[in-house]
Order: sequence, then structure tokens, then C-alpha cells
Amino acid sequence: MKSIPHFVNGHSLEAPGELPVYNPATGEQIAQVPIASSEFVDQVVANARDAWANWGNSSLSRRTQVLFAFRQLLVDHETELAAIVTREHGKTLADAKGELARGIENVEYACGLVELLKGGFSDQVANGVDVHSVRESVGVVVAITPFNFPIMVPLWMCANALASGNAVILKPSEKDPSASVRLAELLRDAGLPDGVLQVVHGNATTVEALLDHPGVDAVSFVGSTPIAQKVHARASAANKRVQALGGAKNHMVVLPDADLDVAADAAINAGFGSAGERCMAVSVVVVVGDVADELIAKIAERSDRLRVGPGDDPSSDFGPLISAEHRERVRGYVTGATDEGITVVRDGALAELDRGYFLGPCLLDHVRPGTRVYDDEIFGPVLSIVRVKDFEEALSLVNANRYGNGVAIFTRDGHAARVFARLATVGMIGVNVPIPVPVAAYSFGGWKDSLFGHSHIYGPEGFAFYTRAKVITTRWPQPSDSQIDLGFPRTR
Ligand code: NAD
Repeated sequence: MKSIPHFVNGHSLEAPGELPVYNPATGEQIAQVPIASSEFVDQVVANARDAWANWGNSSLSRRTQVLFAFRQLLVDHETELAAIVTREHGKTLADAKGELARGIENVEYACGLVELLKGGFSDQVANGVDVHSVRESVGVVVAITPFNFPIMVPLWMCANALASGNAVILKPSEKDPSASVRLAELLRDAGLPDGVLQVVHGNATTVEALLDHPGVDAVSFVGSTPIAQKVHARASAANKRVQALGGAKNHMVVLPDADLDVAADAAINAGFGSAGERCMAVSVVVVVGDVADELIAKIAERSDRLRVGPGDDPSSDFGPLISAEHRERVRGYVTGATDEGITVVRDGALAELDRGYFLGPCLLDHVRPGTRVYDDEIFGPVLSIVRVKDFEEALSLVNANRYGNGVAIFTRDGHAARVFARLATVGMIGVNVPIPVPVAAYSFGGWKDSLFGHSHIYGPEGFAFYTRAKVITTRWPQPSDSQIDLGFPRTR
């Protein structure tokens, strides 16, 4: 059985595999992945600190050249990278290319690093005194990523962290780790010096060794809320800067004046795309007023037309879930729904697929807060319908939810949309846009239990997170300026 190597100091490093990696479309084990021990982590951190000493001092033009070359290699290897993602994650090839495209966007943004790392300068803040500010790299950054975006999320972190002059240790999800190794190879081929980006595999033990390590300066984490909370607490206790993005329960509010065909399309695309395993997937459709029956009929009719199958079959609309356990967990919400007083409109049963971790579109009506279906992040192809009487009730529902990653409103009423966008306690808001993932020039982040730490990821906040501010106050005294003055320095 093939073991997926670590990537250390510019080279693949074989190690005995300990955790299985499956092809979720067949259920077959296709590889195994090692677990880095704390001794191994010590070595990798030492490499990173050595590499940072040079990379952190490299010229901005050199970094820009590496990132431009990397961007081209990502474009050239689109087919290969998408195939790696589909094989280990299960999403369709088209969807894998989509996540790569959004990752490339982040590399393109980081290519503007000369502009983005500019400091400030103030001439003559006091007589003969000037001030300027710079932003310097933080040092060694650890990037811990989830299974559901094995290319995009590593690029969210690595592009800006490397552009800012840091050395990065990437710990990808153990469920689909191959894409990260390939990204590291492409960065090496683009001219990134050895040790500046390393990939170590492992599980919670590996992550804990990285979080506790005194040679690590900053931690970017994306994953589920309970782990994000733990990672944030542990890394903060070790006095590292940390941003930890967690789970979600994204609502899509449909006002009675909305175009119901557009809304039904959006619910289908954002609810069932990638089998619902997106942190910005719509999982709750909040229908306002008396249009619920009509909207549900439109969603149900569209869901019946979806094709569920292997991600490398171009006719598949979405692929399998990530694992057998996860599919059973998701299915449990649907089979238990009637006990919670929920109406099962579509149960996801699939006749023809007898292998792989497939589940069809599930549609649940009369869902309410206080039920497991509503309160938990399900992370599967399950759309819940909540019926509310008016706009205020819809807004209160959204704001009472513990998660605050994304939310969308569908309406033709610009005023209602504007009020909603101003009052919703959610980090990313879509107006007639169901998956409002910001473009790379803005930053991505949720509120409430969707983010621990204050810094959003990528974009301007990414550059801020991966750099430390320094302010230099300068005076070039002339002999005539000589004087003794023990007072506190004043500007006037
Ligand atoms: P996960 O939390 O299980 O794993 C994420 C990472 O943490 C992995 O690298 C994993 O190896 C590591 N990990 C797992 N258990 C750990 C532990 N006890 N201690 C330390 N590290 C541990 O998440 P997942 O199942 O891979 O991904 C799905 C989750 O990620 C969903 O909740 C989804 O909403 C969330 N997500 C959020 C965003 C966002 O931007 N907010 C983006 C993508 C995914």
C-alpha cells in the first residue's frame, strides 16, 4: 500500500503509513499516511527556522517571481490537481477545478506583495524627526487545513504567508493529504527555497506538538468548531498569534417577493454542491410568509433531477461524502427527523449505487430551532426548511444561531436587503448570492462560533496576520541641537 510522503526541506520523505486514505467513490483504501511524531516535528520546525532566516530577508522581487511562477504551474497542472482532489475527496472534477481557481485567485493577489507590504512614512512629525513603519514577517507559521478544500484552503494560507516572508509548515487533513504534497512540489519547482514550505502529516497528536512548539510563531487553522476552539485556546496559551476558523450553519432567507425559480436554483446549487460539504453551503432555507409550499415544490422537483455519482463521471452533479462514518452520521439526522416532528420530503435514498459513500439530496420541512437537525452542523446534502411569518422573525433566527459564517437573502426589495445586511450578525452576506465567498482582495471570516481569534483569513487581513508591525522614529541631530532634557519626549 502506497504511503503518502511528508515534504521536508525540498524533498519528499517516505515514512511508514499509519492512517488509511480512501477513495470515497469506491470505498477502497488507496493509500496510507504517516503520523509525524513530536521528534519529527522538532526537526521540521528547526528546518523552518533556518529557512526563514533567509526567506524573511529575501527581496520582494524574488518573492514575487516565485509566486508568479507558482501561479503559472497551478494553471498548467489544473487537470492533474483536480484529479488528485477528486480521487481522495470525491467532489466532481468541475468542482475541484473551481476550488483550484479560487485558490489561484489568492496566489494572484499575493503577487501584488510589493504594494501590499508597503509601510507608511510621516515627514517632520516633530522638529527634525521623521517616522516610518514597516511590516516584517512573523517567522514560522503553521497551517492546519480541513478535508473539504484540499487545495483552496492551503492556498488561502500559504500564498499570503509566503509572500510576507514566513516559513510555513502545512499539516493537511489526513483524509485527503496528497494535494498538499503536490502543491509543495510545485512551489519548489517555482523556485521556493528548501524548507520554506514543508508538509507534515498526522492527526491531533501532530497538531498538538506543532501548537506547543516554541519555534512556531503563528497558527492558521480551518476546520470544525470544537477543534477550532481547542486550537485557539492551546496556541494562545503558548503566546502564539492564532486564527481558527470553525464550522457553519448557513441560512438562506427567501422573502415573499423573491423570484422563486432563482431562489430554488440557488438552494439546490449551494445546498447540494460538493455533497453539502462546504463551509459556505446553504443548509437552512428560511421561507418568509406564504410562499413556502411553492418554493419547496420547486426545490424538490429540481433535486429529483440531480445525478449523484463518482466525481470523475462528467454526468455527476455531486459525488460521495468523505467517509462511511460521516455518511452514517448525516443519514442519522434524516432517519431521526420524523421523531423531532420534521417532515421528510426527500430522504436521500439511492437505488443504483452499491459502493462508495453516496447519499442523495435530502429535503426536510418544518425544521425548528431545538431540533438536532437545526442545531447541529450536518455537513452533508441535507437542506432544511424553516417557515417564518415575517422579515423580523427571519432576522432573529439568523442572529440567534451560534454560527455566523455566511448568510444570504433573496429578494427584489433593495431596502429590505440593505437592512438585513446591516443587522445580521454574520461575517459574510450574500444578496441574491447564495455562497458569498469574498474574492481574494477582501478577507474571509465568520462571526460567533465560526471564528476564534479576531483575524479573518486571506486578503488584507491575511497580510496583517502574517506580519508584525514595526515603527521607526528617526532624528539626525546637528551639533547645535545638543541639550540635556529629562522630560518625556514631546512633539511640540
Ligand atoms: P476537523 O476539525 O475534523 O479537522 C481539521 C484539521 O484539524 C485536520 O487537519 C485534522 O487533522 C485536525 N484535527 C482533527 N482533530 C484534531 C484535534 N483533536 N486536535 C487538533 N487537530 C485536530 O475538520 P474537517 O472534518 O476536516 O473539516 C470540516 C469542518 O471544517 C466543517 O466543520 C466545516 O464547516 C469546517 N470548515 C470551515 C471553513 C471556514 O472557512 N470557516 C472552511 C472549510 C471547512
